[in-house]
Amino acid sequence: MKLRPVKQIINAIAVSEGAGVTVHRTIGTPALRNLDPFLMLDHFSSDDPDDYIAGFPDHPHRGFNTLTYMLDGHMLHQDSMGNKGDLRAGAAQWMKAGSGVIHSEMPQQSAGLMRGFQLWINLPAKEKMTTPAYQEYAPEALPWVEHDGKRVKVLLGEYNGHQSPIKDSHTSVQYFDVVLEANQSFSHAINASLDGFVYVFEGSATLGETALPQHTFAVLGEGDTLEISAGNDSVRFIMVAGRPINEPIVQYGPFVMNTKEEIDKALTDFRSGQLVQDKASFVSA
Ligand code: FE
Repeated sequence: MKLRPVKQIINAIAVSEGAGVTVHRTIGTPALRNLDPFLMLDHFSSDDPDDYIAGFPDHPHRGFNTLTYMLDGHMLHQDSMGNKGDLRAGAAQWMKAGSGVIHSEMPQQSAGLMRGFQLWINLPAKEKMTTPAYQEYAPEALPWVEHDGKRVKVLLGEYNGHQSPIKDSHTSVQYFDVVLEANQSFSHAINASLDGFVYVFEGSATLGETALPQHTFAVLGEGDTLEISAGNDSVRFIMVAGRPINEPIVQYGPFVMNTKEEIDKALTDFRSGQLVQDKASFVSA
């Protein structure tokens, strides 16, 4: 067993997205362009409606997957092909943009806390132009697993025999929301071939020699086991790991392909109304 140390700490950058939503970006910034297979991580967390009320009106995506995890608040998802989904606190939506979707993600509240994460996960070249798909799960379908006094919500992958209902067949992503009480530790095997990170969003933690205060994003170094501990207070963090795709990444905003020519094609398709080619399949529970 080799414990994974902290390889790099990334400071979040506040970015205005959509029609003017403030998000805190870590993956997808100059300090960390990507962490293969992850392309972007945005954390939104505000009780000021000015930070989120404008939402994300119609916009396109092509060539990758997204996982949206709502911690607090209420968001409605709709796409140009008539698919519609409701994301409430504790719910998660997996979207395979594949060959293309045009969708909106709009807050369904005019006050109160809106908090969550959106992670972009790349697709291998052979999957980029396939039929889009959604997998959407209500909070009840994503229960907290209690083990050894720890609470873990399995958004992707498996923890202690509990499998997420969300299927990710390409990058073996493990994505947990973990709550530790004061002085507890969490240990989890993460195959040495996977890239991974933790993001502490409530309280503070310690990983090896490194203190991780609230809102710290840490890239995991080489090893096969994550061990992270709470201090004198409880801590809550996400732990995410996935298998690198090891292909060229050419990104232009919401389009992520392998070559410049494919990006040009995405732009031409979008401008001529040809971006969306297939109606996405929709699974919800
Ligand atoms: Fe989107």
